[in-house]
Amino acid sequence: MKPEDRTTPTGRVGQVKEVTSLTNPIIKDIRALTQKKARDESGTFMAEGLKLVIDALDLGWTIRTLVYAKAAKGKTMVDEVAAKTVARGGLVLEVSEKVIATVTRRDNPQMVVGIFDQRYRALKDVKPGKGETYVALDRVRDPGNLGTIIRTADAAGASGVILVGETTDPFSLETVRATMGSVFAMPVMKANAGDFLAWSRGSGAQLVATHLAGAVDYRTIDYRARPSVLLMGNEQAGLPEELARGADRLARIPQSGRADSLNLAIATGIMLFEARRHLLSLEPAS
Ligand code: SAM
Repeated sequence: MKPEDRTTPTGRVGQVKEVTSLTNPIIKDIRALTQKKARDESGTFMAEGLKLVIDALDLGWTIRTLVYAKAAKGKTMVDEVAAKTVARGGLVLEVSEKVIATVTRRDNPQMVVGIFDQRYRALKDVKPGKGETYVALDRVRDPGNLGTIIRTADAAGASGVILVGETTDPFSLETVRATMGSVFAMPVMKANAGDFLAWSRGSGAQLVATHLAGAVDYRTIDYRARPSVLLMGNEQAGLPEELARGADRLARIPQSGRADSLNLAIATGIMLFEARRHLLSLEPAS
């Protein structure tokens, strides 16, 4: 390892290190971020890809470490993110392709990986306003579902995703991959069921819970009058009584055919685009 200090335009000093050894302790720590325990202890997570890292920096996320493959050195955008990382006091690692492949556990790894501070927004600070839609997920288990929902919520123009109860980690590698970068754009909150219901009651938003036994066709609900919180049930168990009873409306998406239910992420997408139909347009926003 050859540390090379760089004094940045902001006067702060960041470091660029060259790493080729898989046993390097910093690389070991980064590899450990595939485990929830290591993410929880460090409060960080990993995001792969140059575009994601650029977006995250633009959105003001705190970068701890930037890792890039030696072959990417000299590419203007890679040099720019490296300079930004150093300017913000982060560490930059220039590594061999073998090292970046083990960090991401992929045969065809991305050339750039960023390690960022995790970020949750406090639910008590969320005050739904006119035209806003939130998604609340009861005990979501599947990282692919959660990532897809965060991405879909972003695409539909929702204002945040609330994780209710024990859920899968929004900052796991699998979830972050499935968000395709939306993890940096979509605020994520977490709460237990009681706190969520208490917040919802005082929020001024209508709580629309989706349920296979719901009596209300989801297309007949007025989503314009008040902001909405769309509450979705767990993949296996559906919504528990406690949450269903707390809802203003119990909505169902009519189905035909033999399937018992829709996949959670698909059902959330259908609800989101219906709830925001009046706000979405092909015309560019003025
Ligand atoms: N076995 C579960 C049950 O009995 O509810 C199925 C859960 S389903 C896979 C996951 C969640 O997606 C549901 O709790 C509900 O929020 C939503 N969902 C799926 N299909 C739906 C439908 N046709 N109408 C309303 N919500 C639906």
